[in-house]
Amino acid sequence: MIIDSHCHLDFTNIYNQLDDIVDRAKDNDVNYLLTICTTLKSFEIIKLIINKYKNIYGTFGIHPHETKDHDHVNKKFICDIKKKYSKIIGIGETGLDFYYENSEKKVQKKSFIEHIYAAQELNVPLIVHSRNAETETYEILKSENKNFNLKILLHCFTGSYNFAKKLLDIGCHISVSGIITFKNSNELSETVSNIPLNKLLVETDSPYLAPAPHRGKSNEPSYIVHTIEKLSSIKKTTKENIILNTTNNFKKLFQI
Ligand SMILES: [Zn+2]
Repeated sequence: MIIDSHCHLDFTNIYNQLDDIVDRAKDNDVNYLLTICTTLKSFEIIKLIINKYKNIYGTFGIHPHETKDHDHVNKKFICDIKKKYSKIIGIGETGLDFYYENSEKKVQKKSFIEHIYAAQELNVPLIVHSRNAETETYEILKSENKNFNLKILLHCFTGSYNFAKKLLDIGCHISVSGIITFKNSNELSETVSNIPLNKLLVETDSPYLAPAPHRGKSNEPSYIVHTIEKLSSIKKTTKENIILNTTNNFKKLFQI
């Protein structure tokens, strides 16, 4: 059984055909999905999804791009929402994106810290997005994770080995996406080969980042099988072993 640890099922092109997409996922042994919140509007649809589908869990959080329009989403706001819904099992996605910088750096950082405080108080995993912001992401996680009781999942990892190593040292889990199947991802493959299997999760980030051979198309959870296949060649082990480990890691981290 495979778990897609990060997808955006509320996005219109997926939501409009969700029954079919969930069926195709099941046909490919992808039995659980975690649909990740990005805005308050997105959360309204996520509530409908987790109510309807037994095998889909959700998160609550504001994507770093969207923080400029969600000033009021602070620790208390996040905790109050999470407590209302038992199928909301993580906080995020939050973090820092200095590549696009759709929201000001200062605003992103403030929101990131509020999400960290909430995850700490709720004792649930924090799902972190980091792009062109390795140093700042690490510094904030390290300094706010004072008692090392924060559960951190760095999603769609594309960073350097040095970044991975530092994250592992503060107890993070790391999730890999279809990017590892892309042609010019040799350096990333090399980094991933050095991340212990007991710290790895897999994700699609649907509808983005469809793995080869579907690159360029709209991504969906069933395509995760290509990422698993590539991961088995990178880690020089069987697909079954990759599935066993990544699924167990997810269950332990999210306690389902
Ligand atoms: Zn995402």
